[in-house]
Amino acid sequence: MERVHIRLKGCLQGVGFRPFVYNTAERLGLFGYVRNDSSGVELELEGQKVALEHFLVLLEEKKPRLAHIASRELQFLKPFGYADFQILPSTNHGPKESSVLPDIATCGECLKELADPNDIRFAHPFITCCHCGPRFTIVTGLPYDRPNTTMNAFEMCLACKAEYKNPLDRRFHAQPIACPSCGPTLSLFSKKGELLGQGKKALDKTLEAIKAGFTLALKGIGGYHLMADARNESAVRTLRERKGRANKPFAVMFPDLASIRRYALPSRLEEALILAPERPIVLVKSKPAILPDTIAPGLERIGVFLPYSPLHHLIFKALKVPLVATSGNFSEEPIVKDDDEALETLTRYADLILMHDRPIARRCDDSVLKVTGGMPTLVRRSRGYAPLPVRLPFRLKRKVLAAGGFLKNTVALGFEDQVILSQHIGDLSSFEAMEAYQRATKDLCALYDFKPALIVHDLHPAYPSSRWAKVQTKAPSVGIQHHFAHVLACMAENGLEDEALGVAWDGAGFGTDGTVWGGEFLACTYTGFKRLAHFRPLRLIGGELAQKEPRRMALCVLFELFGEEALQLKLPPTESFSKQELRVLFEAWKLGINAPLTSSAGRLFDAFASLLGVCQVSSYEAEAAMKLETLLSKETVSPYPFTIEAGMIDTLPMFAEAIRENLRGVPTERIVSRFLATLADVCFRVSVDAGIPQVCLTGGVFLNDPLTTRVQEKLKDGFRVFRHNHTPPGDGGISLGQAVYGGMIDLEQPPNFP
Ligand code: ZN
Ligand code: ZN
Ligand code: FE
Repeated sequence: MERVHIRLKGCLQGVGFRPFVYNTAERLGLFGYVRNDSSGVELELEGQKVALEHFLVLLEEKKPRLAHIASRELQFLKPFGYADFQILPSTNHGPKESSVLPDIATCGECLKELADPNDIRFAHPFITCCHCGPRFTIVTGLPYDRPNTTMNAFEMCLACKAEYKNPLDRRFHAQPIACPSCGPTLSLFSKKGELLGQGKKALDKTLEAIKAGFTLALKGIGGYHLMADARNESAVRTLRERKGRANKPFAVMFPDLASIRRYALPSRLEEALILAPERPIVLVKSKPAILPDTIAPGLERIGVFLPYSPLHHLIFKALKVPLVATSGNFSEEPIVKDDDEALETLTRYADLILMHDRPIARRCDDSVLKVTGGMPTLVRRSRGYAPLPVRLPFRLKRKVLAAGGFLKNTVALGFEDQVILSQHIGDLSSFEAMEAYQRATKDLCALYDFKPALIVHDLHPAYPSSRWAKVQTKAPSVGIQHHFAHVLACMAENGLEDEALGVAWDGAGFGTDGTVWGGEFLACTYTGFKRLAHFRPLRLIGGELAQKEPRRMALCVLFELFGEEALQLKLPPTESFSKQELRVLFEAWKLGINAPLTSSAGRLFDAFASLLGVCQVSSYEAEAAMKLETLLSKETVSPYPFTIEAGMIDTLPMFAEAIRENLRGVPTERIVSRFLATLADVCFRVSVDAGIPQVCLTGGVFLNDPLTTRVQEKLKDGFRVFRHNHTPPGDGGISLGQAVYGGMIDLEQPPNFP
């Protein structure tokens, strides 16, 4: 007889882990107990030595699919004399560090029951089990138990309770368990706020309305979606107009994979991502001219995804058509999650509102993935992924709260050997967004009982997240350069320990010299960096406006190359302004009035898009670069000329030749391909000069598939190229880099400490 005490940490609560332990112990004839506490799972087993050993093997091999063991502690003790095996009530003991699970799409077994007329949960929009359903969006505290979820208000019926308490059942301790007699109810409201029906009637009326071309606001897992028939051009256009969204693409939810294949061309890897239990939106090539162009105007790819809640499944099973599914919000404001707010604001965009009475504890937008350079890359990390921790290859010195960036904001908590990134919070420019930011930060800290010893923020003094961090009184704050944070995120999630060369290319970030950076080569360790090279700074004529108008970047290039003569040129950017405007812009450029300098790589894409007549004014971030992605020639091309002197990469020779080619009538595709080949060549030349074998590609520019492919190809001999696997290369990932920095620096001599 032997006894072993085991402490496990990781993602173990709400995944059917205790029933697994119970069943396995019973089968092996082991006695003892298992219980959840705030830091994970604790169990004790007593029995024959071989049975104990067998248990430990099965623990690794047969644990539930969603369970993830991050650490285990084993202690062998004298036998105690247990008489049976029990699942004990959860305790609140221990530090709150047990991982909360993300929301997982409805599993196959639940779907079977959903479609089975003989099952008690036939057509029940809230079916879930231990292997699927909402988690992060319903949990209100730890440990993850029914009273600590938004299902607390629903009293289980006897039948549900029996399943919940039966260790052999798939719903044993499935916290959101419900059935038609005890679970939440659907309600359908009109635009005017009248109740049109409940339960099945609400669903039936919804289906009729969508078929008739109406727009629906639907309560999902992490917030409301606005939905309309994707094949109905006027319905989609109406939605665009009401949402004040000019060109930004809409995602489309399809009934099944077969239907996606009818409209788009997913690769095998993309299909696997579409089917994953996280159910992200995946950006795939669409078949031309089948869906209305207004879904993703001028883009080759559309965002597709599959139903992930039982309610989605019920709707799509009946309708069998693709629906546009976009966040229920105005412009870039936070997604609406509360029913009152939905009735108040979403009635502006939707004809009908389908809601239910299970509250959403916190908002969580859909995640977005894209395959770039042959690898799945997160564009937005949120539902399905948050709040899973990113594991580090080292321990942080202190608890760090990372305040994140400005656009695509996420915040993060760093402690021990992990960083927990929040869900996507988004663009912080509105008052509402900043409120949501503060709530999300407070909420995440409360969930983990987290008291930071240090807050890390972006160096940009005007970012609302930096300003917020600096006025917090509970912990000191320190700033970190934007692109350095990008590189650290990439280094940390790849487990790098030595110095790396970071290629940090994005739209904009505050540089240590006060100019706008964004085309940087930084030699980095976790505590400091050296700026080895950067693109030649160009003027953002009109400041902020130049970030949104690619034609202003193109003008700057033309002024640099041709001076005043540029005013006479007949090119798309010059022709998009009046003569007077051009004159004013030229003066602004010459005198440097409201024309700050930027080394941004994203702005090079802007300049090209404008010069080639692809995009003059963009209505959403990176529109120009996304439109260029479509234009590629199949032939191999040589790079354009450029020079590197004292760390400055001068791209004017490249622009000069590209403009000459354009005027000569060389195909646009060929010019774009040569541009990308040039950027890859720049990476190669700087990497060779730097002599650092590990190269990290980071920043939003690396969401560009053809560019990433070319850079990887160019660096494949002689360099180990690292990219983001667990966080987005864009600004949604910088909170990871910030947290790592804060946890690694020496506070006595912090390089950036104010
Ligand atoms: Zn299930
Ligand atoms: Zn029930
Ligand atoms: Fe950035």
